[in-house]
Amino acid sequence: MLRENLCPILILLLAAICQADAQAPQPNGGGVRAGVLPRTWQISGPQCPADPQFQVHEYNQDLYIFRESGCSNYEKPFLYLLFGNEKALLLDTGAGKTDVARAVKKQIDQWLNRNHRTSIPLIVAHTHAHRDHISGDEELKALPNTTVVEPRASAVQTFFGLRNWPTEVVTFDLGNRALDVIPIPGHEASSIAIYDRQTGILFAGDSLYPGRLYVEDASAFALSIQRLVDFTHGKIIAHVLGNHIEQTRTAYLDYPIGTVYQPDEHQLELGRAHLLELNEALREMNGKIVRMAFRDFTVWPEN
Ligand SMILES: [Zn+2]
Ligand SMILES: [Zn+2]
Repeated sequence: MLRENLCPILILLLAAICQADAQAPQPNGGGVRAGVLPRTWQISGPQCPADPQFQVHEYNQDLYIFRESGCSNYEKPFLYLLFGNEKALLLDTGAGKTDVARAVKKQIDQWLNRNHRTSIPLIVAHTHAHRDHISGDEELKALPNTTVVEPRASAVQTFFGLRNWPTEVVTFDLGNRALDVIPIPGHEASSIAIYDRQTGILFAGDSLYPGRLYVEDASAFALSIQRLVDFTHGKIIAHVLGNHIEQTRTAYLDYPIGTVYQPDEHQLELGRAHLLELNEALREMNGKIVRMAFRDFTVWPEN
């Protein structure tokens, strides 16, 4: 190749690298705090009730993932407990009929012990207001030193100081742990996503997970997913963690609605590529959401 041809090619190559998404300069973990996800989650059933109400998984010493048993509720939602220096945040309270407050308190006490602390305020917020994510609220309200944000868009806006819903992104600091709160109505009117800068995890609620992505408001959902794509552009996304697993390990195949026993379920964690895939699908549907299965999730209009 002639040397004079090389220069424009190099410039193009550099430009392409600069525009690439969510990348790290070296394969060294991207500077995010590491953690471990289980290879598989505890299987509920086929005999119920054999397992505990919650499987509690330590991602790292400051992030715990609670998975509700299918024997308590077939939805088997995931709840997330994050610790900063000044506050703890519980995302969601589960589908109910469990001792969720006791399970959360046990984990907080263990954390306090480990960190030689006597107390830490707990904030309870929600990825959205559907029943399978808010049913433990009353129990949590009874815990000391605890604030429960009401699961309504207006209450979420007031608590986090979101003046321009849904286009504004605000930072919520747990104490040396900044979280970005991103309104994403569409699955439900008060849906939010949370980006944890410390671990690079994007908590996406029911808006993106390996399963059926129910869409209540098509245009709001499409705009929200586009905003999530824009927000994550250039950021390290270690995992996208949602609230359920309904997909099997077989491509395009899900467990039917109401399934308790899921011996071959998909892994929980998705990546930014799935977000891009979802966004592309919504753009192609152009406002008219139709049921459509993809390799790791299904788009599913609510009506
Ligand atoms: Zn939902
Ligand atoms: Zn749900």
